[in-house]
Amino acid sequence: MIQVCYICWKTYGEKEPLNDKSHTHGICEACFPGEMEKIDKIKKERAARRCERDCPPGGESLLELKAEVDPVTDDKEGRGSGEL
Ligand SMILES: [Zn+2]
Repeated sequence: MIQVCYICWKTYGEKEPLNDKSHTHGICEACFPGEMEKIDKIKKERAARRCERDCPPGGESLLELKAEVDPVTDDKEGRGSGEL
């Protein structure tokens, strides 16, 4: 599978199965640091906004975010649909 960065759309590698040429989206090394900074900022903003409202004790918003930004995300929906 071809690994495509979802930010700059560059191909940055391949992963098994190598004969499957469908795309899988992730984040390349070049974009990773900037993205982490951005996410950190969003996290803080969200936490602050949430806190203004009712200040929940748990970190559920952070868990949500963590799921959203998993750097290696398989794009199963795009499978077989060709170019994006
Ligand atoms: Zn990139």
